[in-house]
This record gives sequence, structure tokens and C-alpha cells, in this order.
Amino acid sequence: MTKTIDGKAVAKKVNDATQVAVSELVAQGIQPGIVVIIVGEDPASKIYVRNKNRKAEKLGMHSVVRQLPDTTTQAELLAIIEAYNADDSIHGILVQSPLPKQINEPLVTMAIDPHKDVDGFHPAYVGKLVTNYPGHYPVANTPRGIMTMLKEYGVDPAGKTAVVIGRSTIVGKPMAALLTNANATVTIAHSRTKDLKAVAKTADILVVATGIAHLITGDDIKPGATVIDVGMDRDEHGKLVGDVDFESAQGVAGLITPVPGGVGPMTIATLMQTTVELAKWSDKRE
Ligand code: NAP
Repeated sequence: MTKTIDGKAVAKKVNDATQVAVSELVAQGIQPGIVVIIVGEDPASKIYVRNKNRKAEKLGMHSVVRQLPDTTTQAELLAIIEAYNADDSIHGILVQSPLPKQINEPLVTMAIDPHKDVDGFHPAYVGKLVTNYPGHYPVANTPRGIMTMLKEYGVDPAGKTAVVIGRSTIVGKPMAALLTNANATVTIAHSRTKDLKAVAKTADILVVATGIAHLITGDDIKPGATVIDVGMDRDEHGKLVGDVDFESAQGVAGLITPVPGGVGPMTIATLMQTTVELAKWSDKRE
């Protein structure tokens, strides 16, 4: 029997703790603040950003959405980031992907004050993640949220075989690092992987983050595996679906996240959690 992982319920638990942490900080005179910068008119990005803004406000945080035209130049964007770097009411800066082609993403990553890097994209943080460095630092929110979900459902990666399909900086690579740090034996697969389906079927924990609707079906899943579907895709009818065919996974997977209602709410909850942590750490900077 396949059990559905309730991402909304786990996200609520994280959000409840965040709300308490926000109240404690506000009592000390610090209101955690986040700015999400969106360049251009990508409809999916606009929906994510609206959801992030609503959640931040609901949790009592200071939330700014900075919508910029798709003609924004590199210099203009860097100047805006610089202004938020200097703004004490902002603890987390997120620049929403995708960015228009005139913008150099690595330069944007490097322009954000690392103390406000809510995605944990700065190479120093990536280095800490890969070396399993002790202490507090931000880690990409989607994979971090997935680790919280696994823990909540009693899935300990230690000794398990994990396969991560997708090698992006925002999901696949940090996911593989977190699973490695949690003592799983990890394979990263991608568009050049040979016999992807056979590789997927070796996984006790299968994380799929490709953006290809229904890439993985029940036949590709090891019986009893935990399946985490990161994809947010549209099927031929325009319906939101994942990278995994949820229906054919029934009766094969042990645990599976639905789309929607799985990884999505956890990403937003973890983003808020990280922003509050950055606010907490802001008076303890080294
Ligand atoms: P991305 O940057 O486009 O990366 C996609 C990855 O999938 C790449 O590594 C690519 O391989 C691999 N891939 C593409 N086609 C493949 C195929 N046919 N077989 C095997 N691997 C293939 O995407 P992303 O930002 O990681 O996002 C992935 C998906 O997750 C998207 O649907 C996105 O909307 C969703 N997402 C959801 C959340 C959430 O909160 N729910 C958060 C972030 C992303 P190559 O490297 O070889 O090109």
C-alpha cells in the first residue's frame, strides 16, 4: 500500500514554529524581512512570488515584492540588490529564476550579501554544504524542505540507496549533498544518463527534479521506495502535474509526495524558516 506524504501538514508544522520565532524576534525589536525580486513577466514565477509574499505576511514578517521589467539591465539589478544589502529591514534577498538573458546569474549570486543569501547559493555556503561543515548557514530551501519531510515520515537515509534525477544548483546538487551528508549512497542522474529507468529502480529514496511531466512511472520505481516528486509541470490539458506519474506509482512506492501538495508548500515554509534564521543570526555576524 502506498502512503501519500502530506507536504501541507509538514509545512504547517514548520510554519507554526516560524510564527513563534517571528513573535520572539519582534519582541526583541527585530521583524524578519524578506524581499523577492522578480525580473520579467514569467506567469509561473509570478504565482510563486505571490504565494511567498502571502505566507511571509501571514507569519508576521516584513515582506517586499520588487517587480522589475524584463528590460532591466545587469547594472540596474545589481544596484537594486546593493540597496537591499544595505537595508536593515531586510534579512533575506531572493532573486526569482528564471532571469532574462541579459542578466548574468552568477554575478547576481555574488552581489547578494552572503548574510542575506536566503537560497544558500554563495560558493562559501555550497562549499560548507559539500564538506558537511558544522554550524549555521543557509542551504537551498527545496532540498532542505525535502530532508525535513523525510525526517517527519521516519525515513532515515543512512545506508539507503538514493537516486536524484536532476543536477541543478537549486535542487539536484544540494539534494545529493544533503543525502550524502545523511549517509545515503547517492547517484545523481541527468539528461545524459544511460538507462535512466534502470538507475531509478535501484533507489530506496528517489528524488525527481527534471521538469519533465511523468518522466518516471510505476515501472521505474523499486517496490517500497520513498518517491519525492519536485516537478511542477503542465500536462497536455494544462493541469499541474509532477515528474512522476502518481497513479501508476500507487501500489509500488512505499511513500510518495503528491503534486500539488508535496514539495511545493515545503519549499515556501523552508524559505520562511531560513529568513527567520538569517534575522536571528544577523546580530551574531563574524
Ligand atoms: P533545471 O535547472 O531545468 O534542471 C533540470 C534537470 O533535469 C537537469 O539537470 C537536466 O539534465 C535534468 N533532465 C532534464 N530532462 C531530463 C531527462 N529526460 N532525463 C533525465 N534528466 C533530465 O530544473 P530545476 O530548477 O532543478 O527544477 C526541476 C523541476 O522542479 C521543475 O519542474 C521545477 O518547476 C520544479 N521545482 C519545484 C520546486 C518546488 O518547490 N516544488 C522548486 C524548484 C523547482 P541536464 O543537467 O543534463 O540538462
